[in-house]
Amino acid sequence: MEQKVSPEFIQTSLAASLTLGFQSGSFHRNAKLKGLNLLLHYEEGCLGKCHFCGLSRSRREGRKGKTFIRVDWPLYPLEEIIERTKGKDQIHRVCISMVTHPKALEDTLYVIQRLRRETDLPISVLISPTLIQRDDSLVAMKKAGADRVGIAIDAATPQLFDQLRGKGVGGPHRWNHYWDVTQMAVSVFGRFYVGIHLIVGLGETEKEMVDAIQQGQERGAYTHLFSFFPEMGSPMEKHSSPPLDQYRRIQLARWIINESLGSAGRMKFAENGRLIDFGMDVESLIQTGEPFMTSGCPGRNGKVACNRPYGNERPSAPIRNFPFMPEAEDIEEIKKQLE
Ligand code: SF4
Repeated sequence: MEQKVSPEFIQTSLAASLTLGFQSGSFHRNAKLKGLNLLLHYEEGCLGKCHFCGLSRSRREGRKGKTFIRVDWPLYPLEEIIERTKGKDQIHRVCISMVTHPKALEDTLYVIQRLRRETDLPISVLISPTLIQRDDSLVAMKKAGADRVGIAIDAATPQLFDQLRGKGVGGPHRWNHYWDVTQMAVSVFGRFYVGIHLIVGLGETEKEMVDAIQQGQERGAYTHLFSFFPEMGSPMEKHSSPPLDQYRRIQLARWIINESLGSAGRMKFAENGRLIDFGMDVESLIQTGEPFMTSGCPGRNGKVACNRPYGNERPSAPIRNFPFMPEAEDIEEIKKQLE
């Protein structure tokens, strides 16, 4: 029987599957997906063993298969995804997530080329640095039609990275290499055409997270934040999500750093690393609600297109990354959470 693998088949996020009409349903509070997230798929899965990831080889598979950033990722023919994407005005960007697999580089190039030729959407690639040794792979992605890349550094410190993604779990990823590839990507795609993903709540202090965001900023990479969510069956299924007040402070700090309103050096931290002073008045920033929206690659209008609705929490829980502008009641809630 023919195997349903990439590049002929590709997974979409549940939100993308709903938006493209493969499944019916709508999102809590009518959140609208703007960025189409695609994920390469192989029988062997991802060769990474990251402790917190739903795609990890070390994860026990659940009844419904594997989830990733909390949601299901159904598999469809690439052909059909492209057809259904054409003329979907709601979609402002497409992102192809590589996985750590020997065929991923070649297949990513194929998928970029198809999307470039057949749609008018800007294309991001969430790259797997472990597969990238020289900048020619990145140059090839750019030539094929991608204009931005993301790098999921995820863990904020070298120790946590090593412990959860590297030698500590017998995994292939290395902290220094991830940052070297970030640097390489900035030189190929340009300053701030690169984003790093960081997950809050893997065991880092707030100071360590803020320092990692600052490190990205200095190298020309924006930070896209995620809040840790325990994936069932993963080795970290019992680890809790970070407290909301911690997540809100980090969102504010990220906004200040990425918008160049301040820096980690001007912020103050308690002995346990907790952020106690942002180095500026944050009242008016909180009032805009913008720091608490999902951060991700922009669409043609310069606004965040990758809004990943409910990728960090169950719809019944308080929203961590707002996929839309928070309303007045949301801002009141956020203020309370920050207290
Ligand atoms: S922010 Fe979104 S579009 Fe950009 S690389 Fe990350 S997942 Fe992809």
